[in-house]
Amino acid sequence: MAKKQFKAESKRLLDLMINSIYTNKEIFLREIISNASDAIDKLCYLSLTDGNVGLSRADYKIDIILDKEARTITVRDNGIGMTQAEAENNLGVIAKSGSYTFKGEMDAETAEGEDLSIIGQFGVGFYSAFMVSDEVTVLSRKYGEEQGVRWNSKGADGYTVTPVEKDTVGTDVIMHIKPDTEEEIYGSYLEVWKIKALVRKYSDYVRWPIKMDVEHQERYETGETDDAGNPKYEYKMVTENETINSMVPIWQRSKSEVTDDDCIQFYKEKNHGRKDPAALVRISAEGAVSYKALLFIPGDENENAFAGDNKGGITLYANGVMIMEKCDKLVHEYFDFVKGVVDSPDLSLNISRELLQHDRQLRIIGQNLEKRIKGELEKMMRDDRPRYETFFANFGTDLKVGVCDEYGRYKDFLRDLLIFYTDQDRQVTLKEYAEGMPESQKAIYFATADSVKHAMSLPQCEEVRKRGYELIYLTSPLDELVLEALREQDGKRFCNVVTDDLGFETEEEKKAAEERDIENKELLDFVKESVGEGVAKVRLSRKLNSQPCCLTTEGGITLEMERYFRRGPSEEARKIRATRVLELNPDHHAFTVLKEAYETDRDKAAKLAKILSVLAEMTAGTEVEDPVGFAGLVAELF
Ligand code: ADP
Repeated sequence: MAKKQFKAESKRLLDLMINSIYTNKEIFLREIISNASDAIDKLCYLSLTDGNVGLSRADYKIDIILDKEARTITVRDNGIGMTQAEAENNLGVIAKSGSYTFKGEMDAETAEGEDLSIIGQFGVGFYSAFMVSDEVTVLSRKYGEEQGVRWNSKGADGYTVTPVEKDTVGTDVIMHIKPDTEEEIYGSYLEVWKIKALVRKYSDYVRWPIKMDVEHQERYETGETDDAGNPKYEYKMVTENETINSMVPIWQRSKSEVTDDDCIQFYKEKNHGRKDPAALVRISAEGAVSYKALLFIPGDENENAFAGDNKGGITLYANGVMIMEKCDKLVHEYFDFVKGVVDSPDLSLNISRELLQHDRQLRIIGQNLEKRIKGELEKMMRDDRPRYETFFANFGTDLKVGVCDEYGRYKDFLRDLLIFYTDQDRQVTLKEYAEGMPESQKAIYFATADSVKHAMSLPQCEEVRKRGYELIYLTSPLDELVLEALREQDGKRFCNVVTDDLGFETEEEKKAAEERDIENKELLDFVKESVGEGVAKVRLSRKLNSQPCCLTTEGGITLEMERYFRRGPSEEARKIRATRVLELNPDHHAFTVLKEAYETDRDKAAKLAKILSVLAEMTAGTEVEDPVGFAGLVAELF
């Protein structure tokens, strides 16, 4: 029997595919099962108009038969089958699909190097069997034909086709599994548990039953009793032909069939968790791209976080067949916490899933999903604030990073999803804050500290609070970057109460303050000299009320950022220091004492200056570098 050659390009593709395209060998089973399912679809469709098919819906099935001794996996369907010519055409030539011809016309100039993108256009799913097999035999009989066909191939060197007798209509794909190697235990594909797991993972929602013989122990009564009169049992192995896929995906069913509670149950099963999601999004879209989506917004960190699965992720299906787990092409990273599935018949089931040919469709779907997710979060924020706050405590960082990402490209999309703590013991969006601002307030005031409690006690905040303005507390250095990226809210600028001019002073007050600065210049220079390199400047404060002194910074680096870098891994970043300005409160008793000492006892004045600078560091939340030295200094003044 003459061996026929694959077409030249098929051969090249076959090599390429076996060796490089599919990184994941286990998907071969999904491919072969999908073909079987398609073949059943076709016969079932035909039976609508052809009364002779003789099968009812319940008769269709896909069998998987494992033979460890022969090292074969057979996938058997009772679908439409293939004639000899079809087997040759469909299995013998890879590059036959319509999309290939189309693509060929489109860009005849396609360079060699772009092979991969061309491959994406072919239906080469069947060939993936060669990733795990060294020989594949197909026995098929087409509906309406008497004769069957046997197609056989040992890989890239060609194939044979011969007529055979076959009792039933349909197709058997018999894969002869490769011998084990050091890298790959191909034999594992002959194990029932492995096949069950693969079917669950990739083909659970194929709509025809996938059946396999599964052995399990069964207890039976021997008929005898033990001394106490209890019946005696023994165990025997029984084989049962089980359906190993669950068939109807929950997201394909309408809202009238499946309640939200059913969906939540599904979520819990999939996540092996006990907690309900914070929100649920169900989409059934028809239009440019049709798809169904079932998405979950978790409320808490995944309980199984330490099992290594704390990330969300959306699984992509094409007509019930899994294409990709945790598809990162659907939504941006800032929505990474969303879990769920998207299923679209418009994504074709072929190799292209590996290469993401469908970027355009995915983008359209992704954009819609993002809108819906955002809408759901806004709804939660509106209707159930405490729930939103819990969600935000867990996943707010993702949103904040999203605001800063790509030079603020997504900032306006995400802006209204951010909430911030304020001194009025609540969390608000910037919009809500701006809406509540009194007429007289010109800026949005914020203070940064490592905790809300510490922020509350910052001396610089007093003046703002005295005027009855609400103050936003930022508790992470990321927050500062977020406000920087957002720039403003409803035309109001952000004002850092620690470093920026609060803008409260009248012209007269400013003038008076400047005069006072000149008056005290000598003293301030003396303080600067006494304190040394630690501070860049010393000046009189215009923000302090009850506190004697405070520390502010100049330039882009704040004390918070400095602290953040110090904790970080980069040696270089750990050296970054904020430019410190020591501010003294001229209306405080401490200042009067300092001034007196400056005139009568310079030595004491120098000590007081040093003490004030340490106090300023302490109120800013910095650890005292030399607590013993500081204690000594204070004690000397008694
Ligand atoms: P695709 O399924 O993407 O078209 P494949 O390489 O997987 O590409 O299959 C090529 C063709 O072979 C299919 O389109 C189908 O016509 C035929 N085929 C494969 N498996 C079967 C089967 N089990 N029953 C009938 N036809 C099949």
